Amino acid sequence: MTLAEQAPDRSAADLPLSSTPRTTLQRLRERGRTDRAELDAVLNAGLVCHLGVVIDGEPVVLPTGYGRIGGTLYLHGSSANRSLLAADGQQVCVTVTLLDGLVCARAVFHHSMNYRSAVIFGAARLVTDPAEKLAALRAVTDHLVPGRWEHAREPTRKELAATAVVAVPLDEASVKVRSGGPKDDPEDYDSGIWAGVLPAALTFGPAEPDPALPPGVEIPGHIAALAGRPRGAAPDLMADADHLGWANG
Ligand SMILES: Cc1cc2nc3c(=O)[nH]c(=O)nc-3n(C[C@H](O)[C@H](O)[C@H](O)COP(=O)(O)OP(=O)(O)OC[C@H]3O[C@@H](n4cnc5c(N)ncnc54)[C@H](O)[C@@H]3O)c2cc1C
Repeated sequence: MTLAEQAPDRSAADLPLSSTPRTTLQRLRERGRTDRAELDAVLNAGLVCHLGVVIDGEPVVLPTGYGRIGGTLYLHGSSANRSLLAADGQQVCVTVTLLDGLVCARAVFHHSMNYRSAVIFGAARLVTDPAEKLAALRAVTDHLVPGRWEHAREPTRKELAATAVVAVPLDEASVKVRSGGPKDDPEDYDSGIWAGVLPAALTFGPAEPDPALPPGVEIPGHIAALAGRPRGAAPDLMADADHLGWANG
């Protein structure tokens, strides 16, 4: 179990999912989730988030990696990263999206996607405490490649100074999930038009060693554990992984 997968150490101030005006689903509310474990599951399964922040009055939404320690999400980047610097002390919105399938209905109107997604609102904070910054970088690294921090060289003071880390509390969030097949109008079911789902999941290929590696450096176990396997797939898709021709991991 990685640091990021450990059960969050939540404070009493934590809110149930979708319990504030801006996290309350207005459309298709039945797809909303209230259990905070659903947020943990989306964050554990995802690799990329999108950070939405207003810079000089203009909204900017940029993709980035993330990590989590307890009830805090951490994003990192260059110390010159405009979004991270602008986020400090501001309200931001972070989303994590997992695409689980393309839903092809008989009617164009009813086409959809299967997904799990999380939306998090909160005041971002630039991390300045050295210990918290290092722990956050470890969480980001180990979230992407579990076990990598122990294997790789740790950042130098100069590298740490060149890195910005932003913390976002996970208190105010929503999770929305769509699963299952297409939902068509009754009169279209006998139309003979093909309908169904194309399941989707992120799958890593075989590891490609750097040609600059000296001879004899073997692929480490934490890399082999990811290579050629689906990552973060929906639980029902993982159950069908063999049938789908995916390596079961
Ligand atoms: C991969 C993917 C593809 C999608 N494609 C489409 C599309 O093509 N067209 C379309 O209309 N919608 C699509 N959606 C759904 C979309 O994200 C919105 O949920 C939907 O459009 C309703 O928008 P709204 O502004 O009315 O949301 P509202 O219900 O008004 O949003 C209110 C609050 O509910 C929460 N919320 C809303 N949506 C989500 C979400 N997806 N995940 C977590 N929390 C949420 C947020 O906290 C938000 O502030 C897609 C979602 C995903 C993940």
